[in-house]
Amino acid sequence: MPAIDRVCLECGEKLVGRTDKRFCSDACRNLYHYHTNNAPINYVRNVVNALKRNRRILSELNTGPEGKTKVHRDKLIEKGYIFTYHTNTHRTKAGNTYVFCFEQGFLELGENWFMLVRRDEYLERSGDAPRRETGTAH
Ligand SMILES: [Zn+2]
Repeated sequence: MPAIDRVCLECGEKLVGRTDKRFCSDACRNLYHYHTNNAPINYVRNVVNALKRNRRILSELNTGPEGKTKVHRDKLIEKGYIFTYHTNTHRTKAGNTYVFCFEQGFLELGENWFMLVRRDEYLERSGDAPRRETGTAH
């Protein structure tokens, strides 16, 4: 089998030595990880924080039985909800589009009203126990 020239992922320098090496030096490895993981660190952190805040707001307002509560847009805005950010959407067969921040979501009802919902199966799929609202024994 012909030897393939391996080069440093950061600077392109030819690599010598162990075949599992990916960088010519620690400096290049650090630089590479800095570029790939941390470059837009403030932006990513801001968006993640906004998503977490959105999730917390929905979860705090969604106090209804069966995990459903109707709230007005003003209430969400007042709490600091940012409509720009969500993690996923779910379109039902009936054509309704639910917007989610993690397992907490809502359906826009029109005239600035929203039906808050919760998807415990998202948690179960990830191995998290769903929230038990009423402390009854399980
Ligand atoms: Zn290098």
